[in-house]
Amino acid sequence: MRIVLTGPPGAGKGTQAKLISDAFGVPHISTGDLFRDNISRRTTLGRQAKSYLDSGELVPSDVTVALVRDRLAHDDARHGFVLDGFPRTVEQAIALDDILASQLTQLVAALDFVVDENEVVARMLARGRADDTDEVIRTRLRIYNSENQPLLEYYAPIRLPVEAAGDVSAVHRRAVSGLGERGALVSNRQTQG
Ligand code: AMP
Repeated sequence: MRIVLTGPPGAGKGTQAKLISDAFGVPHISTGDLFRDNISRRTTLGRQAKSYLDSGELVPSDVTVALVRDRLAHDDARHGFVLDGFPRTVEQAIALDDILASQLTQLVAALDFVVDENEVVARMLARGRADDTDEVIRTRLRIYNSENQPLLEYYAPIRLPVEAAGDVSAVHRRAVSGLGERGALVSNRQTQG
């Protein structure tokens, strides 16, 4: 099962990605987590990414796409993955399709977590991450709002909207049932063989 998660920062994508990852045995790949890990280990990539994460701007696509290409080449991602926080732009989505095409495969769904903007601001302020300050949150939402519409148009043929308000397990059930209706779960079993 190869899926991407879209939706505003603070929509609960990370939490839902973990649940999907556990339920279906595919790795949860979060570009934000990969960047934060590199920053804390002070790698070259971490040094390149830090100022962007601190300000809420997007890390340049060439850096981000290379990171994802490397990660998807790992064995554990061969039969599927849940990508969280990537792609954020049409440019990244096209690069992802190219990576998958080179492996003779493709995405089965883009799960789009739909939630009110006031709700996501409240959630981000509550989780208290280093980049969850008022100003940085505003920057992330501004970028999301400008990049997301074209991204959703790009993903229209595989978009699965999921109502993301409410408790975590209810959102998870809606996500899984949407994937089931799409046939994503069946195609996962077929490709595991
Ligand atoms: P997230 O954990 O998904 O909220 O991402 C935190 C930060 O990491 C973002 O504000 C960006 O600075 C950076 N980032 C994560 N994913 C991407 C991406 N796909 N493209 C560019 N920057 C990203």
